[in-house]
Amino acid sequence: MAASLPANGTALLGIVRGSRVMSPVILPGSWLGLLGGGQLGRMFCMAAQSLGYKVCVLDPGLDSPAGAVADDHIAADYADERALAELARRCRAATTEFENVPAAALDFLAKHCSVSPEAASVAIAQDRIAEKRFVVACGLAVAAHAEIERDADLETLDPKLFPAILKSARLGYDGKGQQAVATVAETRAAWNAMGRLPCVLEKKLALRQEVSVVACRTRSGATAIFPLAENEHRGGILATSTIPARVDADIARRARDAALTIAQGLNYVGVLCVEFFVLPDGGLLVNEIAPRPHNSGHYTIDASVSSQFEQQARVLANLPLGDTHQTMAAVMLNVLGDLWFDHSPNSSTAREPDWASVLSIPGAKLHLYGKSEARRGRKMGHVTCVASDGAEARVRADQVARILGIVPSP
Ligand code: ATP
Ligand code: MG
Repeated sequence: MAASLPANGTALLGIVRGSRVMSPVILPGSWLGLLGGGQLGRMFCMAAQSLGYKVCVLDPGLDSPAGAVADDHIAADYADERALAELARRCRAATTEFENVPAAALDFLAKHCSVSPEAASVAIAQDRIAEKRFVVACGLAVAAHAEIERDADLETLDPKLFPAILKSARLGYDGKGQQAVATVAETRAAWNAMGRLPCVLEKKLALRQEVSVVACRTRSGATAIFPLAENEHRGGILATSTIPARVDADIARRARDAALTIAQGLNYVGVLCVEFFVLPDGGLLVNEIAPRPHNSGHYTIDASVSSQFEQQARVLANLPLGDTHQTMAAVMLNVLGDLWFDHSPNSSTAREPDWASVLSIPGAKLHLYGKSEARRGRKMGHVTCVASDGAEARVRADQVARILGIVPSP
């Protein structure tokens, strides 16, 4: 006789070590809700579905990467309370795949169903000013900076901040909403051009490396952490991640500790990523917090026991966290829309990259996000090259980069 599920689809989770509260497990077969339809949502859907959940996506687009694989899709704005109420009615719990979702939408949903991460955590990560204040309050270091909210803030700038980067406090991603500036006059002009919205002026630093840590924390306070990724950005956009990062054990330990301090300080529930700058003297600064799975953690799909997206589903369903061990060395290459065009800057002739050759490289795992239109700078997919050691993963990634026309890493 087939076992029947409890009518309300819940069962009690055994107490996890260190946990304070028992949260009801949301059993496979239940519906989970997702705000946002991008590639992070698409990979979350796939992971949740392989655990047996159904996913309903709320996203305004009719043709989104996550909407295309979700079990259902509500096409509506994130501020549409009727749509949010419908999502909450259908789902036992909801999460988000991008940090610019209005915190008010998460608050509204939380009145009707379980939501993680909580609006308060997302609100901090959405605002560079609030984020830097929070990180400093945690006892961690950030780049020298000034908050710019009014004309008077420009009068008192420390000249030692220059050369600098003016960053809009809100709604920046992939280097958007940022402007390099060398003087107060340039800062004033850039700030005016950005609509005089709140900004931070950050000293431009010489970086030895950039690294990131993806951490997971359950409602009961259990944590898990993935190995450090070493990230190379080009034009403000992540180009490659190498895992594990080529850093000494002390830097890795300090980065892991800082990520856990931040997760605990936020009383965070879900998956988050902390990006760090490594300075030439080995100093570590927190760059920013992403309250969601991160591009530098995509390798976990192919090279970890549990992926970051599986962890997101586990946390949402109040299941125990999965094993974060890395099973293979990995180098991830982002596939940007530029690869669909030839190298002349204004060319608009689109061509399909040579996927068959990419897939002829041993250990090359291709992930395309199903976006209908390639645009320059748009994240269209990624390739994770796995191998039994880091040197071989790098060789394979270089082969893939050559095939795709990506400039190889230094
Ligand atoms: P993301 O796509 O990670 O959300 P973002 O648009 O929020 O990016 P940042 O992470 O602030 O922007 O910056 C993007 C990249 O620009 C960094 O990863 C780094 O390579 C470079 N960068 C940013 N700030 C500085 C700095 N103060 N000094 C040197 N390089 C910097
Ligand atoms: Mg960043």
